[in-house]
Amino acid sequence: MEEKTRHHEVSADRLNVHSIETFGTHDGPGIRMVIFTQGCQFKCLYCANPDTIALEGGYWLDVEELVKRAVSQKPYFGKKGGVTVSGGEPLLHRKALKTLFSRLHEEGINTALDSNGRLIDQQTKDLLAETDTLLLDVKHINDDWHHKLTGKSNHNTLKVADYRESTGKPMWLRYVLVPGWSDQEEYLHELGQRFKDFSTIQKIEIQPYHKMGMHKWAALGMKYELEGVEPPSQDLLNKTVAIFKQYFREVKVN
Ligand code: SF4
Repeated sequence: MEEKTRHHEVSADRLNVHSIETFGTHDGPGIRMVIFTQGCQFKCLYCANPDTIALEGGYWLDVEELVKRAVSQKPYFGKKGGVTVSGGEPLLHRKALKTLFSRLHEEGINTALDSNGRLIDQQTKDLLAETDTLLLDVKHINDDWHHKLTGKSNHNTLKVADYRESTGKPMWLRYVLVPGWSDQEEYLHELGQRFKDFSTIQKIEIQPYHKMGMHKWAALGMKYELEGVEPPSQDLLNKTVAIFKQYFREVKVN
């Protein structure tokens, strides 16, 4: 079932921004301006930016102001770079992002969307049509584990993946590897099986779990459930890469 938008998803020409990074190299092709939007419907236990989860907060910027900043950075983007919108969850702002991405295309700037795929409706589809690369975060292939990790189902994420495949436009998968939570061999294989025939998936990126956001949870008065969990060992990373290589043409550890 399609999810209703909330009251704050109203503006087509202003965006609720948490922060902006210049010269990002980890979120999409080449060198990029990365816009982090405010608000997320997931609550991932490992979220490194829990201050982006609350739907209230952030600051409003006009789409045209963002376009102006992107244009000023265009010389640094090179052939592959451009603008990535991440979060939080950018699909909460899909109407404004459609406007932003259309404008960026008019300026000859590449667009990428880093999303957990939580919302799939016509507005999502309209935004994906303006998205050169979709970076789709699949938090877990098993829905029970997905619930445990994020508080929500993975159904819409998988629907977004299927829809993207149907459009033939490029997509990268991203997978946060958390020991004891998302490293079960059977599910890594299940994820590979689910996507192995997708022609639009250019690569899968493994994002090793880290604790860098832990202090932010404490600062927000929120309990950090993964306190005893350590980042994946080199052995586990190697094993996961080897499994994914059976299914994906490129596997990268971020
Ligand atoms: S989807 Fe991203 S922003 Fe949302 S809770 Fe998970 S890690 Fe945090």
